[in-house]
Amino acid sequence: MNHGQIAQFASLANKLDKMIESLDFSTLSKKDKVAVKMHLGFTDGAQTIHPFYVRRVVEKIKETGAYPYVTDNPTAVYNAAHRGYTQETCGCPLIPIAGIKDLYGYETEINYRNVDTMNMAGVLHDSDALVNLSHVKAQNNVGYAAALKNLGVGGYNGSDRFRKIHEIFNSIPSWDPGKCTPEHAGRLVESCPYGYIKYDEEKHDLVVSRGRCYNGNCFECMEADREVGCLNMDPEAFETFHEIIAIGTKKVLETFDDEKLFHINFLMDMTPTCDCMGIIQPQVIPDIGITGSRDIVAVEQASIDLIGEEELIYGKVPPYFKHLNTDPTVDLHPFQRLWGPLKDPYNVTKYGEKHGLGSRSYELVEILPAEETLNMEGRHSYERGPSFT
Ligand code: SF4
Repeated sequence: MNHGQIAQFASLANKLDKMIESLDFSTLSKKDKVAVKMHLGFTDGAQTIHPFYVRRVVEKIKETGAYPYVTDNPTAVYNAAHRGYTQETCGCPLIPIAGIKDLYGYETEINYRNVDTMNMAGVLHDSDALVNLSHVKAQNNVGYAAALKNLGVGGYNGSDRFRKIHEIFNSIPSWDPGKCTPEHAGRLVESCPYGYIKYDEEKHDLVVSRGRCYNGNCFECMEADREVGCLNMDPEAFETFHEIIAIGTKKVLETFDDEKLFHINFLMDMTPTCDCMGIIQPQVIPDIGITGSRDIVAVEQASIDLIGEEELIYGKVPPYFKHLNTDPTVDLHPFQRLWGPLKDPYNVTKYGEKHGLGSRSYELVEILPAEETLNMEGRHSYERGPSFT
C-alpha cells in the first residue's frame, strides 16, 4: 500500500496494473464472457471495492477483446448505483448473478452433511472466465471472508445461501436434549449476554447461533453448563461453514478451465464483519493493499498471513464486541481476537487445500515496494491549475 514518492508510477493504481500484468490476462480469449464476481454491498454498506479499481480491472479485461460484466446477487445489483457502481463507473454492465428473481441456476451436487444439492448461480455457471474480485474483511460465521466466500456463498442462489449454507452449523446439534431440563435450558438462555441461545420449551429444542457466537473468547454459557455438560461447542461444528464454502467454491471453479481463473483480494477498509450487514463500519485493520493469484488458496493464505502481521486497531473495535481478546500473550489471529478462536481464518485455506482448490504454499512478490519507488525516476504530474482552460 505504501508508496515511495507522490507519483502515479508509485501509487496503488499502478501497482494493480502491474499485478494484472503478472496475473496475465492474455489467457482470456477474444469474446470470452468474463464474470467479474464481486460483493456490491447492501443498502448502506459502501465499503466494498471502490469503482475506481473495478474499472481498472475491467479495462484490462477489455484490452484482451473479452467481454467483462460485474455480477452479484440480484438485490445488490439492483441498488448498486446507490453505492457508486454503474455501467458508467465500472466500464461494463452489471448483471444479476442468478436472474432478477435469484432463481436462475444449475442444481449442483454438494453431498456434504444434510446438503445434497445447491443451485449454482446461472450467470456464473454460464461464463467463460472468472475474475474473482473480493473485498477482505473479518466475518462472523468464518472469521475471515474474501475469495472463497465470494464464490462458495456468493456463487449460489438466495434460498440456498440462507437455508442451506447459513444453516449448516445446525447439521451438528447444539446440545444433548436428554441431559438438559427445561430449567437448565432457561439458565443457558440467560447466560448468553448476546441472546444467541434460544430455547423452545414446547418442543424442548435449544439452538445456539454458532454463526454469531464468540466461542472461545466468551465462556459464559459453558460456565453455566459446567455441571451438566449438555452443550456441544466442538470446533468441528464451527468448521462446517468453512467446509461447505470450500466444497461450493470447488464446484464453481470446476465450471471453468484453469487458465480462465483469476483471484484478486482487496485488503482495504477491513471491517469487523460482513459487507452484507449493509452499514458503514469502522476499519479495524490498517489498509494493506491488494493480493492476486491464479491459485485461490494461495491468495487467501497470503491475505490471512498479511493481516496476521498487523494489530487490530483496538480503539476502533465496536463496543458490542464484549469479549474481545486483547491478551498479547495469547497467540491469535487479529480476526480471532474479534470472533473467537473457533472462527479461525486459517480454516478457510485448510479446507480449501483439503478439497483440492490450491496450495497454502506461496511466494509473496511485492510489486513496486516503497523502498524501490523511492529512488525511481519518473514524471510527477499533479494538478497545478485549471485543466480545461
Ligand atoms: S459462547 Fe458466549 S456468545 Fe457464544 S452462545 Fe455461549 S454465551 Fe453466547
